[in-house]
Amino acid sequence: MTEKVLEYDVRKMEDVEYNYRQIEENISLAAEKAGRKREDIIFLAATKTVEPVYINRAISCGLKYIGENRVQELLAKYDDYDLENASLHFIGHLQSNKIRQIVGKVDLIQSVDSIKLAKEISRQGQLKNTSTDILVEVNIGGEENKSGVEPEKLEELLGEISALDNISVKGLMTIPPICENETEIRKYFSRMNKLFIDIKGKKLDNINMEFLSMGMSSDYQEAILEGANMVRVGSALFGPRNYV
Ligand SMILES: *Cc1c(COP(=O)(O)O)cnc(C)c1O
Repeated sequence: MTEKVLEYDVRKMEDVEYNYRQIEENISLAAEKAGRKREDIIFLAATKTVEPVYINRAISCGLKYIGENRVQELLAKYDDYDLENASLHFIGHLQSNKIRQIVGKVDLIQSVDSIKLAKEISRQGQLKNTSTDILVEVNIGGEENKSGVEPEKLEELLGEISALDNISVKGLMTIPPICENETEIRKYFSRMNKLFIDIKGKKLDNINMEFLSMGMSSDYQEAILEGANMVRVGSALFGPRNYV
């Protein structure tokens, strides 16, 4: 971290602290309701558009995981994150020509949905003598033009990735379709959890089903109730994003 005097909005800083505690409490409640332990669930903050000064305040409150969406933005903010106290994930749509720029910098890439991306992560890992942890993104709603592998093709993709060096599958991630109500969203989360448990039960070689990443600001409690052990929360922590 570089020592810079960073300007910030005091009010916004207080909001981040307040929201952090609120979300922590909600996660604990959902965990309890689901019969699970708070410490078994990871709270990752989605930090797109958020300035590092606010991200670091959340880290000082106890946040341990942050996730960026865009390679350019991640690189621009990289030196200012408090990475001594938090782990950095990449959670956005990935292009193979950008992979080189993040391998070795991020602790985990959550959004791998093709063998092409996996091969490039593996190749860059070999060049840099490092191994990258990844999650495979699943298009659980089977939506057209959406990232993620189709559920029917997941096992085949996992098989192909498991044969690659310098890349290690640690679980699954999903962004479900936009839903009208809680019942509908829970159906997708539940379907995803079944897939996760099913794959886990198959004990595929070199495939580790440790993390199930699902749930965002509007539905992280429902996701936890349906088995998520990693939630990705942005606007509920940092406030609404005022860009594009
Ligand atoms: C932005 C983002 C989130 C968080 O979204 P919010 O609704 O602001 O909580 C989670 N996951 C991914 C992949 C994102 O891009």
